[in-house]
Formats: sequence, C-alpha cells, structure tokens
Amino acid sequence: MEKKVTVLPGDGIGPEVVASAVKVLQAIGKKFHHTFHIAYATIGGAAIDQHGDPLPQETIELCEESDAVLLGAVGGPKWDHNTAELRPEKGLLRIRKHFDLFSNLRPVQAIPSLIKSSPLKDDLVKEVDLLIVRELTGGLYFGEPRKRTNEEAIDSLVYSRLEIERIVENAFELARVRRGKLTSVDKANVLETSRLWRQIVDEKKAQYPDVEVEHSLVDSTAMKLITNPGAYDVLVTENMFGDILSDEASVITGSLGVLPSASIRSDNFGLYEPVHGSAPEIAGKGIANPAATILSVAMMLRYSFGLKEEATEIEHAVNAAFNDGFFTSDLATSGNQALTTDEWTEKVLNKIDPSFVSDSIITTYI
Ligand code: NAD
Repeated sequence: MEKKVTVLPGDGIGPEVVASAVKVLQAIGKKFHHTFHIAYATIGGAAIDQHGDPLPQETIELCEESDAVLLGAVGGPKWDHNTAELRPEKGLLRIRKHFDLFSNLRPVQAIPSLIKSSPLKDDLVKEVDLLIVRELTGGLYFGEPRKRTNEEAIDSLVYSRLEIERIVENAFELARVRRGKLTSVDKANVLETSRLWRQIVDEKKAQYPDVEVEHSLVDSTAMKLITNPGAYDVLVTENMFGDILSDEASVITGSLGVLPSASIRSDNFGLYEPVHGSAPEIAGKGIANPAATILSVAMMLRYSFGLKEEATEIEHAVNAAFNDGFFTSDLATSGNQALTTDEWTEKVLNKIDPSFVSDSIITTYI
C-alpha cells in the first residue's frame, strides 16, 4: 500500500513526539511492505511565527493532497496573549471544520503496567476498555446566533438530523466491531436537541440488531464513568458533552501521555493526534512521552488505511515496552529508571523489528 501522510509537528513537545511516531510509521512500512510518503507543514504557534496564520493556506493544501494527517500539539505561553484569530488553538478548530472531521474518537484502555498511575482503585481500572465517539463539528461551539454585549450573551445549540445521523451511524459501526454495546449520552430530560438525538438513535437501532443500546443522561454518565468505567464499550455524544466526558475519561488510566485520538470524516480521511497538549515546561528536554502519538499512528493505520494487523502490531509493541518496565519520566516510579523520548522509542521500534535502524528524520517545513 502507498499512502501520503502530512505531519504537523506544532509547538512545544509536538515536534519531539511526532518524530518518534514517524519512526514507528517507517518501521511498520518496512516490515509490512507499505510506502508512506511523509511531508511536513506548520500549524499553531509555529505557523503564526512563520506565516502569520495558525493554519496557513499551504498547510491546508498539503493536507488536501494527503490520505491522513498526524499532528503533535499546539500552543504555549508565547502566544497566550494573542488575539482570538491568532491563537494557536484556532488552527486546530479551523482544520477540523475545513476537513469536516465530524467524528472524534478517544479510546481509553487500561494498560496493566500503568494501573498504579490511575487515581482510581486498581479494581475499577483494570477492566476499562472504552471508546468515546464525540460529534466534533456541530452543536454549541459552532451554533449561530452567537453574541455578547455587556448585558447579555448568547450561544446556540443547533443540530441537524444529518449531523446526528452520521455520527450515530459511525458509533453503531464501531460498536459492532467491538463488544457490541452502545451508550448514547444526552440531556433529553431538558434539551430539544437531545430529544431529536435520542429519537434518531432509536430509529437507527433497527439497522444494528447486533448492538445493545442504552440511553444515559450526561450528568449520571459523568458519575458512572468514575464509579464503574469498566461497564462501558462505546459512548456516543454531542460536541460539548463529549469534550467534557472525554477529558474526564482521560484521567482514568492515569497518564495523559498514553492517550491517542482521531478525528475522522465520512470517507475515512482523518487527523490523528495525542490527547495531551504541548507541555511547554518540558519542551526541548527530550523527555516527553511519545506513546500517545505513536498510538495515534496505530489509529491512523486502523481507521484511515484499514491496516488492522499493522495497528495491532504498534499497540502490542507499546504495551510490551511498558510491561518490560520501560517508562519515560512522567510514568517512571522510584524503582524504574526514566528513559528519554528517543530511548523509549527505540524500545518500541525494537519490538516491531529488531533489525530496523531508524533513519535520521529529515524535517522540511513548507
Ligand atoms: P498539557 O497536556 O500540555 O500538559 C499537562 C501536564 O501533562 C503537564 O504537566 C505536562 O508536562 C504533562 N504532559 C503532557 N503531555 C505529556 C507527554 N507526552 N509526556 C510527558 N508529560 C506530558 O496541558 P496544558 O499544560 O494545560 O497545556 C499546555 C499547552 O498546550 C497550552 O498552550 C494549551 O493550550 C495547549 N494544548 C494543546 C492541545 C492540542 O494541541 N490538542 C491540547 C491541550 C492543551
């Protein structure tokens, strides 16, 4: 298989974790005889500095020519006081909207050797294997009208049937290839958009008799995610509820540094990125944990390229590195020596292909 991947390293630790993930992608390409053409472009603060725009036209064009995009992270104190249009995060919102990346997937899975890092009791965490499917391009964050005066402010929560149908269908499809359980999260006791959401989930149910469906109010879901996270398989919800619940779910496993994410369009084009941010205080030190970005590459292989075996290979290699007691400083305990980003990446590469020598990555920015 031959695929084009645009890599957007971004800011802070973004370039460091992305460099590791690109090496892993190359190792998988070599082992399974695929060619991944990789091109680099800027986004976020780096793009503001170089092009005066957090999402330059050149970056959009390069992504348009690609089959998938891998992103590091954006933001940092340098740009914190910029105007809204010149904030690094604006680049992220714009790329999601431009490419109609309506389905945001965030898997949360217990990694046995990391369970001790969780703030929850071991027994609650060890069974956790859930996937949050969040609608990403509609709802309160994009609804019109939207205005603010000194006396009043308005945000609008708007969802069309089409927007709900496509995310719900996506979640049913994902549930059927997992454990066949779908939890649809809403606030149907109060909100009209939630009532339409619930109605559409019930309509779609007939097409997926192999999927067990439950409706759950967002407030009680927030509690159950902490008291019984192992009970969930796939959760599907609208934009703002998904934003909050996925951040809540991200602490279950105990490390931000291991959580990948995907934002996908209906033709499977997708943007893949770690859940964490640019961690400016550790940027440039070579100690960032690249696991979340490496696992984001596994998601790219699975969801955009349909390469399930290759994706599983990466996930096993990451788990094996942890199980062998190799950790970066964010996860190392007093009994374990902390590895640098490069050293930990080498452990993962070694699991995939002991003979693989990672080439020096030539980074060119447009
Ligand atoms: P953060 O995720 O960058 O960092 C939170 C904490 O986790 C910090 O202590 C950091 O050192 C640590 N951490 C995060 N990723 C790590 C990794 N891979 N390895 C080791 N430690 C890691 O969140 P923050 O501090 O709230 O935000 C910092 C900047 O990142 C801000 O400018 C924020 O706007 C931006 N941000 C960007 C994204 C994104 O690009 N998608 C997401 C969240 C935050």
